Amino acid sequence: METHSSPLISVKNLSKKYLVKKNFLKKEYFKAVDNVSFDIEKNQTVGLVGESGSGKSTIGKLILKLIQPDEGEIYFKDKDVLSLKGKEEKEFRRETSIIFQDPRTSLNPRFKIYKIIEEPLEVHNFPKEERKEKVIKAIKDSGLDETFLDRYPSELSGGQRQRVAIARAIVLDPDFIVADEPTSALDVSVQLQIINLINNLKEKKNISFLFISHDLNVVGLLSEKIVVLYKGKIMEKGNAKDILFNPLHPYTQILIQSIPPESPLQRGKLDKIPEIEREPVENGCVFYSRCPIAEEICKTEPEYKKVGTQEVYCHLVG
Ligand code: SF4
Repeated sequence: METHSSPLISVKNLSKKYLVKKNFLKKEYFKAVDNVSFDIEKNQTVGLVGESGSGKSTIGKLILKLIQPDEGEIYFKDKDVLSLKGKEEKEFRRETSIIFQDPRTSLNPRFKIYKIIEEPLEVHNFPKEERKEKVIKAIKDSGLDETFLDRYPSELSGGQRQRVAIARAIVLDPDFIVADEPTSALDVSVQLQIINLINNLKEKKNISFLFISHDLNVVGLLSEKIVVLYKGKIMEKGNAKDILFNPLHPYTQILIQSIPPESPLQRGKLDKIPEIEREPVENGCVFYSRCPIAEEICKTEPEYKKVGTQEVYCHLVG
């Protein structure tokens, strides 16, 4: 009999807005995340791709309960994340982790590497002897040897610092990690090494990742599923192969076309979307002002349509 296990993470209709202007007549809000839903299965990498300001880092922080949503639900192992408290919340913090974009700012420069990696174990009250064993294992699993533990972050290269950030993220043996642009501050040659490391950790340790990037090319190298975000809204989501080889949404199509064929890791592609002279419409498709194929109907809000493994936000698809 076929059994169906529930996803590791399930995000349902998540929304978050920020107040940008307020006077006695009205308040103006910026919609950072708008009705976002997707699942992450056990041992799966989901790539979340979008331009800067599209809301992708906000989604990562919402899932980890670092900020609160205005609307929506988040489930981790079938538990309602937003209502976790006390022991259950602490357990959630132990089972989830984050890797930030720039290890120069995410690693405390005053601490030696040992202390940086040990810190989460201390917070979760691991005994001292057990901590040492786990720190050594984490640094080795991240591709560095024990000699690095006695150094300061300033003595390391960018790639080595990101490996330390990864060691800290895995030291508690989490089931889920948000990797927030973990390669974008690195040289192209080092980016590939970090992508390989993340892929190996996923396989060896059964970790699920939400891999956030502005670069569809990078996301395509390690994701099983891709979610394409524009102005806080999902434009298209589905199996990575389908999104990469048969993109259905005009925005995804533009992103794919602008990937240069010569290199797997060129940057800046999301900045190269051709600008179209068209006024945005208040209650229509959010991509209307930049869409090369917009029609009159696009002045109304599209619904999501399912096409094969893909789900697309566009009137003209399907
Ligand atoms: Fe373009 Fe219209 Fe589709 Fe929006 S709904 S992406 S404007 S074609």
